[in-house]
Amino acid sequence: MAALVEAVGVRKSFGHTEVLKGVDLAVDRGEVVCLLGPSGAGKSTFLRCVNHLETIDAGRIWVDGVPVGFRQAHGKLYELREREVARQRRDIGMVFQRFNLFPHRTALENVTEGPVRVLGLDRAAARADAMALLDRVGLSDKALSYPRQLSGGQQQRVAIARALAMEPKLMLFDEPTSALDPELVGEVLDVMVGLARDGMTMIVVTHEIGFARSVADQVAFMVDGAVVETGPPSQVLDNPQQPRTQQFLAKVY
Ligand code: ADP
Ligand code: MG
Repeated sequence: MAALVEAVGVRKSFGHTEVLKGVDLAVDRGEVVCLLGPSGAGKSTFLRCVNHLETIDAGRIWVDGVPVGFRQAHGKLYELREREVARQRRDIGMVFQRFNLFPHRTALENVTEGPVRVLGLDRAAARADAMALLDRVGLSDKALSYPRQLSGGQQQRVAIARALAMEPKLMLFDEPTSALDPELVGEVLDVMVGLARDGMTMIVVTHEIGFARSVADQVAFMVDGAVVETGPPSQVLDNPQQPRTQQFLAKVY
């Protein structure tokens, strides 16, 4: 079967600075890919391109057979308009380092907002789904709490539930635990482990090598705007072939 995500030769510049210099990456259905690499390598930019939060300059990204930012008709590609882009983006859940929950809404309201407003679900159905999702992230008892009443780890779990409420076929995580106190990292990673077990396709930018080792099907190492090495964790983490991967791992271990 074709990959769920396939990026080929993706290039992206900001002004005169080329940040992505030909990124290639393929992610199979149900696969967890951990994207590792030093700060400034272009990891966040690449995730944003997958979600069409950035427009790429060259190359192509397919998600589920459809080129991001385009639609296919009569064998031709047509660039999407803003509204159509939003529709395409619905299929992709994204969780950032900062939780960006709506501060004046409860956990439950944060999770129901998208399904009600974007998918047009009726509120009762959305609430039932949201309660099930809050349960899945271990927060059914916090449904009526406001973000400020929750720890960072709890807020991040609400953010994951909120993304799942849109029934994405792909989840993107951009350093989801980097802003958390160390003792709260585990509870968020546990939720992600559960998602992986349930077969969710995920691209996870992370510095959590332990997570990558135990959960990733594939580790991709990115540096200076390109994926320079990819393979199973046992290969990339324990027996890296590229000098730059070796140097990076020597530093973080
Ligand atoms: P990483 O997530 O691997 O740390 P980023 O994708 O955030 O890397 O950034 C890669 C490079 O692109 C950095 O040099 C960063 O400063 C630059 N960059 C990212 N976003 C923008 C932007 N919107 N405008 C200008 N430069 C940007
Ligand atoms: Mg980043």
